[in-house]
Amino acid sequence: MLFLKIFQILLFIGLVGGTFYFAFKKFKEIYDNIMMGQAEKINSTLGFRIKSMLLIAFGQKKMFKLTFAALLHLVIYVSFCITQIELLEIFIDGLTGSHRIIYHAVENIPFLHTLYLVVINFIEILSLLTFFVTIIFILRRTTFKVERFQKPELKGWPWKDALLILAFELTLITFIFLMNGADSALHIKEHGEGYGFFLSSAIGGMLQSLPSGLLQALERIGWWGHLCMVMGFILYLPYSKHLHILLAFPNTFFTRPEPKGEIHNMPAIQHEVQSMIDPSFVVPASDGEVKFGAKDVYDLSWKNLLDAYTCTECGRCTAACPANQTGKKLSPRKIMMDTRDRMEEIAACKKEHGPEFVDNKSLLGDYITGEELRACTTCNACVEECPVNISPLSIIIELRRNLIMEASDSPAEWNNIFANLENNQAPWQFSPNDRLNWTEELN
Ligand code: SF4
Ligand code: SF4
Repeated sequence: MLFLKIFQILLFIGLVGGTFYFAFKKFKEIYDNIMMGQAEKINSTLGFRIKSMLLIAFGQKKMFKLTFAALLHLVIYVSFCITQIELLEIFIDGLTGSHRIIYHAVENIPFLHTLYLVVINFIEILSLLTFFVTIIFILRRTTFKVERFQKPELKGWPWKDALLILAFELTLITFIFLMNGADSALHIKEHGEGYGFFLSSAIGGMLQSLPSGLLQALERIGWWGHLCMVMGFILYLPYSKHLHILLAFPNTFFTRPEPKGEIHNMPAIQHEVQSMIDPSFVVPASDGEVKFGAKDVYDLSWKNLLDAYTCTECGRCTAACPANQTGKKLSPRKIMMDTRDRMEEIAACKKEHGPEFVDNKSLLGDYITGEELRACTTCNACVEECPVNISPLSIIIELRRNLIMEASDSPAEWNNIFANLENNQAPWQFSPNDRLNWTEELN
């Protein structure tokens, strides 16, 4: 018995330690990928940052633009947060070889005992609700075919990723009820009643006719199965869109304080215009070295790259995008997914061939085409809709600047407009001196 206990403690430490080691390695890689971006100063106060994070990530404020989906998501979100309490007991049991250590510690302290029962019952009710909500989420993708989940960019791995994590959740909840149900059945056999957990006592009542040895085995299968699912989830998280459950917090913390969709000037262009207006203005020599816009992920800012890793692939941006709605190739969700995929590709190449390796590919061209970028109306709907304050528009603007100003890749109609802007300070072909001609016929 003692040998089995020690074996289980060692297995627990090995499993948890190994999981955190490999998860940490991958999270570090993601951090390095984000930091390959350019510097960007977020000019916000600490108060603004905390408020954004509490309202948007913690409070799920923007989710409620779609009430039904938000309520479903809220069940999973609250359940995920609260079940960590039971996980804490599992961790202590795993490390010490004890069984329901918190239950036994508070058993004779009425207030804490009641509190413990309330918490575990709440977890069980939430787990049951989560089970049904997860099934609804699967049906929304597979049977009801909600339109934003049927777009081309979700084909292949993103589709499997979404379903895999839902299957994960169902399995994990099944293990929780197996563990608590079998444990309750044993408790009923020994003490004539369950622990006082409403749902698992009911399951325990149904299982109590099974032999004690089998119940103990089922409890252990549930316990270890639950733990393996949690560890598997931690390992899988950095490879999945579900990374948003962590990154939504820093991403909303670093929300840009400027009005959504504000387009920043390019200093080099600003200087050029200044020198045209004021001949005494001296254009800084460094402007000659400037590269316009972004061709690859290295040219984007760290905030753009954090946005990409935070994207939940929910498609609310794409559903609201007028370009996408009118059949254009542009999907703001795809812009975010491509940016993340490109970072992952670079990281994989560097791992295989060394840090100096250049693969001669780029985000612009190999992932995102000019056709997609030109379709953007800069309407800002994608930014407005995103539940975690991501700006696909910011990436589109940077790539389009590069496309036009570095690669000179713009349609003839646009070139005429650019020439007019340069020469006439307006998109039309009239001299600035003729601007008020239309008023001559007025009284
Ligand atoms: S800003 Fe561009 S990408 Fe975003 S919704 Fe509008 S058209 Fe679509
Ligand atoms: S950018 Fe935002 S709205 Fe668009 S798919 Fe990602 S999380 Fe959803």
